[in-house]
Amino acid sequence: MNILYLVIPCYNEEAVLTETSNRLKVIMENMISSGKISSESRVIMVNDGSKDKTWEIISKLHENNKLFGGIKLSRNKGHQNALLAGLMYAKEHCDMAISLDADLQDDVNAIEKMVDEYLKGNDIVYGVRSSRKTDTFFKRTSAEGFYKFMQILGVDIVNNHADYRLMSRRALESLSEYKEVNLFLRGVIPLIGFNSSIVTYERNERFAGESKYPLKKMLSFAFDGITSFSVKPIRFITLLGFLILACSFIGLIWLLVLKLSGKTVQGWTTLMGSVWFIGGIQIFALGVIGEYVGKIYKEVKARPRYTIETILDDISK
Ligand code: UDP
Ligand code: MG
Repeated sequence: MNILYLVIPCYNEEAVLTETSNRLKVIMENMISSGKISSESRVIMVNDGSKDKTWEIISKLHENNKLFGGIKLSRNKGHQNALLAGLMYAKEHCDMAISLDADLQDDVNAIEKMVDEYLKGNDIVYGVRSSRKTDTFFKRTSAEGFYKFMQILGVDIVNNHADYRLMSRRALESLSEYKEVNLFLRGVIPLIGFNSSIVTYERNERFAGESKYPLKKMLSFAFDGITSFSVKPIRFITLLGFLILACSFIGLIWLLVLKLSGKTVQGWTTLMGSVWFIGGIQIFALGVIGEYVGKIYKEVKARPRYTIETILDDISK
């Protein structure tokens, strides 16, 4: 009954884990004693191939208190994969799981609010930042631009929501059917459906240690997000090729007019004409091939085509 698992990916987080575990312990124990969640609830820390004392700290926590559990990945696999590993483990044991960062940037007081939303019948509860005050100007504008761009590309993504969210067991089961290797959780989860709601929170500064997301990782994360969700960039190439081809027809007429009025040197007309015409055809052809590649891409991802929420039929009883 109402078993809650917290899933926390940890990569070189020795500086924050003690404080994080203390705060989570208080929150979990309060909710257990008020009967909101079961005493079987756990805090699961996923060690994503840390090179510092992270795993030792997790093992100690587990030894001292059965509330804490740990999963150790064989090497660093990145935030999204560590998160997935923890969630897929939790799926087998919990009724709901909340994922959050180890560095206390996600306000832990929102945990209880998320559980309340779950108890009201929501399967997915998104943690949404109320402001980005604590981010640097660069991170704020780049992140906002990224969310906008994703929406323009037609990706259903929740504004200002990172990976702080609650998912019910059946939402996790549905998530497990998304077999894609380039996993961008923020984009996949809205595809699952079910009732969902939002809890807003203030994003804090990192409690200690430094960000594990340097600019390079951030850019590759954004690029992954775009290319695993949208084939619109390919369509853009098709469109570009088509436009160039159309322009080249107009250009041909203009070149012909110039030629007939004798304002050109020998050979210039055919040269210019073919450069534009062939160029347009090439880009257009690339776009058409790209369309097929995009289709293949969608097929190999083999995403589930639907998730059933309820069945009303006497047979299924
Ligand atoms: N993280 C991880 N593997 C990685 C990088 C990060 O498990 O390869 C974890 C990290 O320990 C933290 C969370 O992902 O719990 C978010 O990372 P961070 O706080 O460094 O990112 P930022 O908040 O700066 O975007
Ligand atoms: Mg952080």
